[in-house]
Amino acid sequence: MSKITLGIIGGGQLGSMLSVAAKKLNIKTVVYSDDEKAPAQNFSDEFIFASYIDKEKVYDFAKRVDVITYEFENIPFETLNELSKLKTVLPKPSVNRLIQHRLAEKDFVNKLNIRTTRYVHIKNKDDLLPLEDFLPGILKTTTMGYDGKGQFPIQNINMIDSLNIDFDNEYILEKLVKLKKEISVIITRFSNNKYEVYEPIENTHENQILKYSKIPALISEKIFNQSKEWAILIAEELKYIGTLCVEFFIDRNDNLYVNEIAPRVHNSGHLTINAFNVSQFENHIRAVCSLEQIPIKKLSNAVMINLIGDQIIPYRNNLKLNDNQFFFDYLKKDIKKNRKMGHLTTLK
Ligand code: ADP
Ligand code: MG
Repeated sequence: MSKITLGIIGGGQLGSMLSVAAKKLNIKTVVYSDDEKAPAQNFSDEFIFASYIDKEKVYDFAKRVDVITYEFENIPFETLNELSKLKTVLPKPSVNRLIQHRLAEKDFVNKLNIRTTRYVHIKNKDDLLPLEDFLPGILKTTTMGYDGKGQFPIQNINMIDSLNIDFDNEYILEKLVKLKKEISVIITRFSNNKYEVYEPIENTHENQILKYSKIPALISEKIFNQSKEWAILIAEELKYIGTLCVEFFIDRNDNLYVNEIAPRVHNSGHLTINAFNVSQFENHIRAVCSLEQIPIKKLSNAVMINLIGDQIIPYRNNLKLNDNQFFFDYLKKDIKKNRKMGHLTTLK
């Protein structure tokens, strides 16, 4: 069989780790990013720097690859849709369109009889005024949010004026859940009822940014099973191909809620690189390139720590690691506050 070339849209750390996994499977990668400094170019075979709406460059990209996937959700739907007329795009563009909109995403999850936080659509400031019932809550932009960006915690109605909210955007207002824990379930779906689902991962956020992930998650058996079942139901219902992550909340009464779906590999799954026989990245490549499905097996428990901003520096300066520790440098040139620069996985 001739060598497959995989196109990856987006050039961040997820694109990098997908490229590394592809290389292991003898698959060539072309990364397409609108960031000239995109770190994935250090790991891919080829790199295209252009806007996501540059039609000519997008066509050129399509010509160079056999299959196309993406590493972040905020890619214009039109771009993915045009590409899908030329080459196979997985997960399919309609999945991305659904999930990149928080309201559509939450409506979809609720239709499956899966619990989410309570939410309401907010189109202008007046919509907020009668909503005491949803407070304290978090106002979130319906599109383009990540790592807590585009989110405003609201304690009470009187705060609204002081928040400087741009009502040119649409929002949802979500009731705040009294969190006991956050977990995520990563699943790679290959075809109907054919998937590999990883055990739930326990996540700790700081300033709405993921800081730690670990397995095993300290959760009840009921939540262990329920979270996996819901992730499977979501993946099947979307007819998803590739790796997907479902983020969950657990409240103080041990109720499970779906927080959001990421139609891609996920930061909380980085520990699968070292803790499983097949990582979330390799599984994604296997699924979108129609390669063999290998049953996953846990090799070890693990903890992953995100190295944010200048926390990367001691590791770059050859901090001594133990044999059970694995350091990943995303090779981002500029160190910025709140920027994910690398991670450290420790096997336990
Ligand atoms: P992002 O797209 O930025 O990941 P999320 O909706 O996942 O946005 O929010 C980021 C984090 O903020 C969550 O992981 C959680 O810690 C906190 N958070 C968000 N919404 C709620 C909520 N309704 N109740 C409690 N915590 C929340
Ligand atoms: Mg999130």
